Formats: sequence, structure tokens, C-alpha cells
Amino acid sequence: MTAIRLDGKEVAAAVHAEVAARVDALQQEGITPGLATVLVGDDPASEIYVRSKRRTAERLGIASIHHHLPAESTQREVESLIDHLSVDEAVHGILLQLPLPGDLDGETAVRHIAPAKDADGLHPVSLGSLVLDRPGPRPCTPSGVLRILDHYGIETEGSEVVVVGRSFLVGRPLSIMLSGRERNATVTLAHSRTRHLPAMCRRADILVTAVGSPKMVTAEWVKPGATVVDVGTNRTEAGLVGDADFDDVAGVAGAITPVPGGVGPMTIAMLMSNTVGLAEVSARS
Ligand code: NDP
Repeated sequence: MTAIRLDGKEVAAAVHAEVAARVDALQQEGITPGLATVLVGDDPASEIYVRSKRRTAERLGIASIHHHLPAESTQREVESLIDHLSVDEAVHGILLQLPLPGDLDGETAVRHIAPAKDADGLHPVSLGSLVLDRPGPRPCTPSGVLRILDHYGIETEGSEVVVVGRSFLVGRPLSIMLSGRERNATVTLAHSRTRHLPAMCRRADILVTAVGSPKMVTAEWVKPGATVVDVGTNRTEAGLVGDADFDDVAGVAGAITPVPGGVGPMTIAMLMSNTVGLAEVSARS
């Protein structure tokens, strides 16, 4: 392996330390930031994610307010819980764990979160602020990707970036954040209909993969010395693997995030950062 390993756990620890200090400052003003988590149903992966978010919040001094609704809940029941949390003064951030089970519509339910409490940055108002280059909570996984690049001093200005995957959760907001005036990258957003994908990826100074296809990206897809950020989290018989074939790609890349231990820990860290940010804004208003 020649590539530098971009350690998400190390970067997440730095974010946690910053968040804990900001929580401390708020507590000195008599404010305890509160994060409400809403879990619907019994999906084991969602339960693990929510538990981990709650534990991290508590460790950093953020009050964790948890609601677990049964899988049989109606759309109306989910939405009225969110409406209630949106006016609860102890709650500064609301996280609705997605996807919702069965026929429940997560995207519509997210619209019930008060934009001022949108801890995940996925409300249409937050996404609108993102497009307009205005302040507001940003989606957590894309923010985590950028924070890893910043931590390791990887410059985006003028870089050619290829993002593979255009979901509203990861790839699409990340492509907007990278191409904005703060980051100034030239971005190509690729997806399942993109032609000549390996050749396109090979042009990238920074290649981000958010697909969900185990070990799809091999050394031939990567320009020598490029940075590879692997968002993919794929459960296989061999354990958790990314979209990149780590050992193969690490032989040619300049830097690469591992899976696990890369982008994964950053998503929760940025959720904490968003929550304390929302509490700070609420304290000033
Ligand atoms: P989605 O399924 O919503 O989106 C996947 C994207 O990949 C789509 O845009 C799809 O294209 C594209 N795609 C699928 N197959 C190919 C292909 N063969 N070539 C090129 N593009 C392809 O997934 P998410 O964005 O929600 O998640 C992506 C991955 O990231 C998953 O592994 C997920 O587990 C992981 N993830 C990790 C997080 C973390 O914290 N580390 C957080 C969120 C997600 P099209 O639009 O044309 O269908």
C-alpha cells in the first residue's frame, strides 16, 4: 500500500472535541442542546445507527430524547410526533431515521421537521439554502466527507472531482457543496447511466464513491496519486466493505478512506455538530 490512510475515527474524535467544547459554552448560558431521535419499526441496522447517535450525543453532553414508534404506525402518527417535537423547546435538533418501514413516506415526513431543527440537513428548506450557498444545516455524510479532506489538507479548489452516486442523501448534495464558492471544485456527478465510468473516474483528482456496490472501483479507475473517498458501506460475507477494492486501489491512490473507519464515523460526528449549531442559532435568536 502506498496511499495515506484517511482515518475517519481520528477526524471524528477532533469534531467530537469541538462539539463538547461548544456544548460546554452553551451550558454556561443555561442551555443544554437536545437531539430528538425518531425510530420507526424494528430494522436492526436502523436500531444500531440510532443507538450509536444517542450514545454519542450523551457522551458529548447533548440531551438525547428518543421516540420509538411501531412499524404499524400511520404516516399521520409519525408526522404528528414530529410536529410535536418541532415546537418542544427542549429539542434543538430532530433526526428521523430513514428509511421508514413499509409504505411510510420518509421524504414527506421530513417536511414536518421545523427547518430550524433540521439536524440531518435534509429538509427542502435546508437543501434550498445549500443550492443558494446560504448558511444552514448541511447533510451529514457529505459534510463528513469535506471535513476529512480538510483535516488532511486535501485541496478542493480547482480540483477535478468525480462523485459517483446521485442520491439526495449523499452524492447530489456533496456535488453541490464541492462546486460552490467555498470549495471551487469542478465536479462531475456520475450515476448508473453514466457512460465510460472507469475512464471518467480516472480523470479525477478526488474520486468519491457513494454507490453501494462492493469493490466496484479497482486500481484501473484511479489516477495515480488521486484521493479516493469511499462512502459505500456494503455488508458482505467477508464483513463490511466499501465501493472500492481497498487493497488494489491503495496501491495507486495517494490517499484513501478505509471501510469501516472512514466516512462512517463522520456522519454521526457531523450530526452532533449540526445539533449544537442549531442550539447556538436558537440561543442567539
Ligand atoms: P442510493 O441507492 O440512494 O444511491 C446509489 C447511487 O449509486 C444512485 O445514484 C445510483 O444511480 C448509483 N449507482 C448504482 N449502481 C451504479 C453503477 N453500477 N455505476 C454507477 N452508479 C451507480 O444509495 P445512498 O446514496 O443512500 O448510499 C450509497 C452508499 O453509501 C451505500 O453503500 C450506503 O450504505 C452508503 N452510505 C454510507 C453512509 C455513511 O455514513 N458512511 C451514509 C449514507 C450512505 P441511479 O441514480 O442512476 O440509480
